[in-house]
Amino acid sequence: MKLVIIGGGIAGLSAAYYASITNYYSEIAVLESSSRWGGKITTDRVPFAYGQFIIEGGPDTFLATKPYATALCKELGLGERLHGTNPNKKNTYVLHRNRLLPLPDGLAMMIPTNVEAILKTHLVSWFGKARMGLDFVLPPHSPNGDESLGAFVSRRLGRETYENLIEPLMSGVYAGDGDALSLASTFPYLRDLELKYGSLARGALQMRKQSVRANGHSPLQGSRSAFLTPTTGLAEIVEALVKYLESNDVALRLNTRADSISCSDTWHVALDTRKSMQADSIILATPAYVSGTLLASFDPELASALGSIPYASTATISLAYKQSDLPRDLDGYGYIIPRREGRRALATTWTSTKFPHRAPDGYALIRVFVGRAGQDIPWNEKELLGLAKEELNLTLGIHVEPLVSRVFMWDKAMPQYNLGHPEILERIDAALEKHAGLALAGNGYRGIGIPDCIHSGELAIKKVTRDLSRIPIMAT
Ligand SMILES: Cc1cc2nc3c(=O)[nH]c(=O)nc-3n(C[C@H](O)[C@H](O)[C@H](O)COP(=O)(O)OP(=O)(O)OC[C@H]3O[C@@H](n4cnc5c(N)ncnc54)[C@H](O)[C@@H]3O)c2cc1C
Repeated sequence: MKLVIIGGGIAGLSAAYYASITNYYSEIAVLESSSRWGGKITTDRVPFAYGQFIIEGGPDTFLATKPYATALCKELGLGERLHGTNPNKKNTYVLHRNRLLPLPDGLAMMIPTNVEAILKTHLVSWFGKARMGLDFVLPPHSPNGDESLGAFVSRRLGRETYENLIEPLMSGVYAGDGDALSLASTFPYLRDLELKYGSLARGALQMRKQSVRANGHSPLQGSRSAFLTPTTGLAEIVEALVKYLESNDVALRLNTRADSISCSDTWHVALDTRKSMQADSIILATPAYVSGTLLASFDPELASALGSIPYASTATISLAYKQSDLPRDLDGYGYIIPRREGRRALATTWTSTKFPHRAPDGYALIRVFVGRAGQDIPWNEKELLGLAKEELNLTLGIHVEPLVSRVFMWDKAMPQYNLGHPEILERIDAALEKHAGLALAGNGYRGIGIPDCIHSGELAIKKVTRDLSRIPIMAT
C-alpha cells in the first residue's frame, strides 16, 4: 500500500508519523512545495551576547489542555523539553483608550467569573458591568442553527464587554472578525454552557470546579501551565518528526509541489516537475483553498466547498532590546488590542517575560502581531517593521532602535470559521465519503491550533486506512 501526503506542515508530518507507526503502508511519501518543513511553524535561533534569541515566526506555544500535541511530544522524546509560561509574571493587559489596563482576574474559559475583579476593572463602564450581570438571569435563546461569536457574547454579556474584553481574547485566536465568526465552529462550548447552566459565568465556574475535582488543579489557574513549548522553539517538534520519519524510511521530498489530483483505479498526483506519483491513499494537508485547486478537475463540488473557506493574512514582527533601554518593566505576557481601538496591531507578546529562556539575560524580546480579517496591512518587511516600532512607541514609549528584528509575513494563513462553516464541513464530509482513500488534514476545518492540526493528521490516517480495509469486505 502506498500513501502520499501533500503538505509538510505540522498536520502533514503528523499524518506521516501516525501512518508510519501503524505499519499499514509499505511506502509513505510527504511532498512539500517549499524548501523547509514545518509550514507555519518556523523558529529562528539568533546567537547574541553569549546566548541566543529564540524567535518564533508563526505559532509560539501550544495549548496543553488539548492532549494531542503534548502526547506527540512525549512520543518523540520531547516530554522533558516542554516549558510552561512564566508563573511569576502572569499579567496580561488590554489596550483601552491608549492605556494598558490589566485583564481582570478570574477569567475561566475566557469568561469573567470573579465579581470583585469585574467591579474593580476600568475596562467596562458601570453600565456595562450591570449589563454583564444579566447573564445570570437571561433565559437561553433557542434559535435553531448558528450565531456569530459577537452576537452570542453581546446577547449574554452585553456589547461593551464583548468589544472591550472578549473580542480581543477570542477573535484574536483566529485573527478574525467576531461578528462573522461562527460560534458553533469556534467556541461551541459557550453555547453548551448557556443551555446547560443558563449563564456563561455560572457554567464556566462549574466547569472549573469539575476540572479541579477531576485533576486536583485548575488548568487555568493551577501551577501547571495551560501553554507549552519546547526549549529551543516549536521547530523542535518539526525536527523530531523529520528525524523519526527519515529513520523509518518515509520519503520526504522538499521543493516538490503537487499540481493536481486525479483518480482512476488508483490515485495520481501530478507534480510541478511534470512527473506524477501513484498512490492507494492521498492526504491533502495543504490549506483548504490549495486543496480545492488540487481537486478542481477531479471533484468540482468538493473543490468549490474547499475554496469557500476564507483565510486572513497576518504577520509577526519580533524586536529585541536591552532591558535597561526600555522605559517600563515588561511585567507580564503582553497585551491584546480590541478591534475598536483602531490600531493596526492585534497584540504584542512580551516573549522574554512569557518564556524567559528565549532571550539572553538582560535582553528583552517583544513580538508584535499584525493583521486581522477585513483589515489591510502593508505587505512588505520595511513597512511592517515600521508599523511594529510605531506600536511599541505609542503604547510602551520605546524610542530606541531594536538590536535584532525579524519579520514573518503569512499570506492567507488563518482560516476563518465564519457563519456557514459547519455547512461547508458537511458538504466536504459528504464528498469525502464518496472518495475512498482520500482525506484532508490541517487547520482549515475543525481547529486552528497545533494540537488540533496534529489530531487532524491522525484522523486523516484513520479515514484512509478504514476506507482501504473496507474495500475487500465490500468485494466479498
Ligand atoms: C502568526 C501565527 C501565529 C500562530 N500562533 C499559534 C499559536 O501560538 N499556537 C497554536 O497552536 N497555533 C498557532 N497558529 C496556528 C497554527 O500555527 C497553524 O494553524 C498550523 O501550524 C497549521 O498547520 P498545517 O499543517 O495545517 O498548515 P501549514 O503549516 O500551512 O502547512 C501546509 C504546508 O503545505 C505546503 N503546500 C502548500 N501547497 C502545496 C502544494 N501544492 N504541494 C505541496 N505542498 C504544499 C505549504 O508550503 C506548507 O508547508 C498560528 C498561526 C500563525 C500564522
